Amino acid sequence: MPKTKVEAVTKRLYERVFVCMKCNAKIRADARKVKLGKVKCRRCYSKQLRPKSKERKI
Ligand SMILES: [Zn+2]
Repeated sequence: MPKTKVEAVTKRLYERVFVCMKCNAKIRADARKVKLGKVKCRRCYSKQLRPKSKERKI
């Protein structure tokens, strides 16, 4: 597979996935909502979420 395609697919899959920093639960949510603090962990109700993928800003 071309590298660019892999990156595009990976980004699409992971940019909406966040990981709870307390219980490591995976939460699929909109990045904007997470930044606004509207998303809570389903298990421990923590708002401390981090993006699953490290942000790659070019
Ligand atoms: Zn949690």
